[in-house]
Amino acid sequence: MKIKTKLTFGVGSLFLMILLLAALSGWYVYRLKKDTGNILTANYNTLLYAKNMLLALEDIPKKNDALSSFENNLNQQRKNVTEPGEQQTTDAIVKHFGQLKSNPQDMMVISAIRKDITQLMQQNMAAISAKSLVADRTAEQAILIISFAGALCFIIAFILLINLPSNIADPIAKLTGSIRQIAGQNYKERLHLQSTGEFAELVRSFNTMAEKLEEYSESKLEKILKEKKRIEALVDNMHDPVIGLDEHGQVIFANEEAINITTLKKEQLVGRFAPLVAEENDLIRDIFKDLSLPPDKREKHPIKIYANERESYFEKDIIDINVLPTGEANSTFIGQVVILKNITTFKELDLAKTNFIGTVSHEFKTPIAAIQMGIQLLENEQIGHLNPEQIGLLKGIKDDSDRLLKITGELLNMTQVESGAIQISLHTTDVRPIIDYAVMANQFAADQKQVKFVLEIDPTINTVVADNEKTAWVLTNFLSNAVRYSYEDASIQIRVEKIESAIRFSVTDHGQGIEPKYLDKIFERYFRVPGSKKGGTGLGLSISKEFIEAQGGVIGVKSEYGAGSSFYFILRARGSNNP
Ligand code: ADP
Repeated sequence: MKIKTKLTFGVGSLFLMILLLAALSGWYVYRLKKDTGNILTANYNTLLYAKNMLLALEDIPKKNDALSSFENNLNQQRKNVTEPGEQQTTDAIVKHFGQLKSNPQDMMVISAIRKDITQLMQQNMAAISAKSLVADRTAEQAILIISFAGALCFIIAFILLINLPSNIADPIAKLTGSIRQIAGQNYKERLHLQSTGEFAELVRSFNTMAEKLEEYSESKLEKILKEKKRIEALVDNMHDPVIGLDEHGQVIFANEEAINITTLKKEQLVGRFAPLVAEENDLIRDIFKDLSLPPDKREKHPIKIYANERESYFEKDIIDINVLPTGEANSTFIGQVVILKNITTFKELDLAKTNFIGTVSHEFKTPIAAIQMGIQLLENEQIGHLNPEQIGLLKGIKDDSDRLLKITGELLNMTQVESGAIQISLHTTDVRPIIDYAVMANQFAADQKQVKFVLEIDPTINTVVADNEKTAWVLTNFLSNAVRYSYEDASIQIRVEKIESAIRFSVTDHGQGIEPKYLDKIFERYFRVPGSKKGGTGLGLSISKEFIEAQGGVIGVKSEYGAGSSFYFILRARGSNNP
């Protein structure tokens, strides 16, 4: 049966029963009223008149107005004849009263009237007792029937009270439980309700939904498993070692290559806490050491690994995996993947190139020196006069050979840097000679452009901890760039100042400056700002960086595009303090 029908039936029957009870009670109250009302109007009044007539009868011989009082009551009684035989008795009283009126002292008539009145009273009293018997019976019947109807109402209401709420609430409770199971991904959950109507429909729909969800989740799981296997195969077949970690730092996978290079067994690596493995294995420690650092703080140097009986170089790439969970606003960190790119071939090629450049630049030095010597000889007036055209040509050759010498010098420096063979000898050395050397080396070029060097040296500074040759080279490079990128008649500030326990050297020009987007690139090898003056190699600043960092110093630049640049380096003032 439908819930709606059940509710209509239940509430409707309760309503009907209340109506029935009210009607029954009303009906019996009406009947009782009718019964007792009869007694009051028909019999009680007659008894009253009879009593008045008896009282008046007593007074008739003595009082004159007694007759009229009697007559009044008699007339009232004549209008109130209700019982069988009452008419005759009343008529008898009327007849005898007529006789009494003509002879009020007649005791015989008075006695006859008294008898009549007594009979009248008896007739009415008998009627009263008969009627009260009827009223009693009606009351008993009312009690019986109303009790019966009340009991019936109670039973029906009780049955409804027990059944109706549970009939509705039980299926809802079962449905709620099943929905919770589905929400908890138990798609095997089904509803079993012995029910008809709306609930049967609901059960059918719920079970269909659960079935479809189960089917969908199974197909999804299968798809995910297939996808997982595919990715595992892909990672396993990669030629680069790959190690995956979860968000708690537990190693969750490592491909064949990773296992090979670490020389660990798979079970010694996979499924274990990364810091624990790192404690046991030096290579793993090296690979995992930057995991907890932010990406920009991670080391970028290649890792050298001895594997497969040869030295190999790997570039480490740590990828943080962040995913955006469905329905959430912020992404969650779920782990990291470490990829080691084998760069051995490139490294070998790079080394071959460096060696080649080193050899070539070294070999170039002797012929260039010979050319310069030849130029000097040619410039000597004693050897012979040159015409102005020849002097011009000679100047061109001299400039080119100077540039060639500078380039070969820079290339040689670079090969030193690249092969990791920078020889640094740190000493507490005077600041002044370093500056004088750099100024002298650039004075000629500066004079040609009428550029002035302005020295601003803190008089309290005398010494610095530095490799004076390399530091002078860096300062020379800063000055030559500053002269090159300054306008004519400009000034260049060479500043030496104290910063706590370090000394800061800076060269500030008022040239074109450097666009902000190139600022972090200019210390890279071979980088030249697009559109820069011809003649450079893009190596000067990168070599300067290597030289300063090899001394434990810091190098940098500040530039305002269009207003000039300020290149600086900071070195220790004393002993072992850091700059
Ligand atoms: P280069 O041999 O080209 O001078 P550097 O490594 O010394 O090589 O400099 C790299 C680039 O930085 C230069 O090509 C130039 O574009 C830019 N640069 C260096 N110094 C200055 C400066 N003082 N003013 C403007 N640009 C500069």
